[in-house]
Amino acid sequence: MAIIITDECINCGACEPECPNNAIYEGGVEWAMSDGTTVQGAFVLETGNEVDAEAQNNPVADDFYYIVPDKCTECVGFHEEPQCAAVCPVDCCVPDPDREEEEAALLERSKVLHA
Ligand code: SF4
Ligand code: SF4
Repeated sequence: MAIIITDECINCGACEPECPNNAIYEGGVEWAMSDGTTVQGAFVLETGNEVDAEAQNNPVADDFYYIVPDKCTECVGFHEEPQCAAVCPVDCCVPDPDREEEEAALLERSKVLHA
């Protein structure tokens, strides 16, 4: 499952540089599939919507750091455990119960993000 950041986030910024997929953004900042990945051209999100990899998309959250689910692999392919959760001082990076995924699916995503 992807990791989400709860509203207990204190906006310390510690998690952002630790993400191997550049999936973490400061609240209010636009995100793009191509940030920190090799994704190019049209990309179909898990919602079914298609975006251009370079397109700047609306922030998922305005007041707290947030994670783009299409870019989160739970760190599979890079680390033994989610790095954002490992460094977060208030333990607000938690598994999203609505996005349970098998390790194989997460590994496949990491390959798509870094082809
Ligand atoms: S679990 Fe890993 S890939 Fe997902 S947002 Fe956290 S650091 Fe990034
Ligand atoms: S490390 Fe935790 S508290 Fe700090 S910005 Fe990230 S989610 Fe928020």
